[in-house]
Amino acid sequence: MTALLAAESISAGYGDSRAVVDVSLEVGEGEVLALVGANGAGKSTLLRVLAGAHRPTAGRVLLRGDDVTHVRDFDRNRRGICLVPEGRRLFASLTVRDNLEVGAGSRRGGRWTVDTVVDALPMLGPLLDRNASQLSGGQQQAVAIGRGLMSNPDVLLLDEVSLGLAPIVIDELYESLAAVRGGGLGIVLVEQDLERTVAVADRIVCMLEGHAVLDGTPATLTHEQITDAYFGHALAFTDGGSGPAAGPGTEGASW
Ligand code: ATP
Repeated sequence: MTALLAAESISAGYGDSRAVVDVSLEVGEGEVLALVGANGAGKSTLLRVLAGAHRPTAGRVLLRGDDVTHVRDFDRNRRGICLVPEGRRLFASLTVRDNLEVGAGSRRGGRWTVDTVVDALPMLGPLLDRNASQLSGGQQQAVAIGRGLMSNPDVLLLDEVSLGLAPIVIDELYESLAAVRGGGLGIVLVEQDLERTVAVADRIVCMLEGHAVLDGTPATLTHEQITDAYFGHALAFTDGGSGPAAGPGTEGASW
């Protein structure tokens, strides 16, 4: 079956330095793919390549099988790929409602309106008329996600949604994610917190120094394999002697 979004052998970098090296992955309809890895592993760069915000040096990005590698970020957004970047980037002088409306700029039809976004992210309800500059970090993050949803994407790329937030706020955001993921939306999630990742993801790809070194489901990957891949220990690379990526059939462990 054709993947909703696929990266095929993507390499990307900055000048002479390589940030992403020959990475392939796929996300299907309604699937949450978590991209994990240490700081500098290349996760944000890969998300930006998927969104059309950074040009790869090699490889292809396919949306429902169509090659969109050379489609610019604005047009990719119109076709259904939406990046919620790290750092929120709201319009500080606009209200929450106006910030959400900005997200609808692509004019794609679909289930997401201000009302349905507030249903999924209830913390936004009382804040609609408040200026974005007056929001806490967690509230800003919720607005950034809501703004992304307003474009009615087929694929949502979420970069470090929980960065710098209090655990209780992160819990609330993740509860909202459960409401968001229905209806076939594919999500690629960059997250530092491994336990949370394993709880929410259908599939996990671990990056290390630009490479995808592990790819599997929470049921088939052990905690040890994921942490070893994350920190670059040798164990993750020795599974079955077949190279870096651990495939299905790997013995699972409970978390
Ligand atoms: P983090 O969790 O710290 O954001 P990451 O896994 O998302 O890390 P990237 O931000 O993609 O990793 O960075 C991958 C590599 O590219 C790092 O070595 C980083 O220093 C480098 N890099 C990222 N952005 C730039 C940039 N604008 N210019 C030059 N190098 C960059």
